[in-house]
Amino acid sequence: MEEKLKQLNDCMTDHPDFPKPGIVFKNIMPLFSDPERMKLLGDVLEETIREKFPGCTKLVGLESRGFLMGMAVASRLGVGFVPIRKKGKLPGEVVRQEYTLEYGTDVVEIEKASLEATDKIVLIDDLIATGGTMKAAVKLIGSTEATLVGALCLIEIDFLKGKEGIDNFVSLIHI
Ligand code: AMP
Repeated sequence: MEEKLKQLNDCMTDHPDFPKPGIVFKNIMPLFSDPERMKLLGDVLEETIREKFPGCTKLVGLESRGFLMGMAVASRLGVGFVPIRKKGKLPGEVVRQEYTLEYGTDVVEIEKASLEATDKIVLIDDLIATGGTMKAAVKLIGSTEATLVGALCLIEIDFLKGKEGIDNFVSLIHI
């Protein structure tokens, strides 16, 4: 596992001052532009979810790179995939959660019909920084009938302590 994670980490690129000054943007797209890396990513996510969240019935991905993470592994596990999106993108009846940003608020939504009361949900995203996005997703799932069993991010920016207050949180690459 350690060697696989090192290979994944080595192919991602860092972009200082993107998309704004002071942010070092971690670009995960090289994981998907090469089939060997994509397989490696799928292997690592599959092994982690099978070990840490064995009862999972659905992966719920956070917009938008969480969609790529979730889809890289859902079919391997034989579980469904459901997206959480920013407001106004999903049709039909939605469940909605407002959350606080640095300036102002935003809203995330999930399709009501996509989750069942028997579902055991694992949230998935590429990276956790402040944790604001993941905590909004935790609250959103908490307001549905499904059960949240945990959350997984490929990368964690450790010093921001974004995982604090999130139960059963797992991350694989620490920066
Ligand atoms: P946060 O809500 O602060 O934990 O931010 C997490 C979300 O923003 C994730 O969906 C990430 O894709 C994105 N994000 C935050 N910081 C970075 C970064 N340094 N590099 C790449 N993506 C980031």
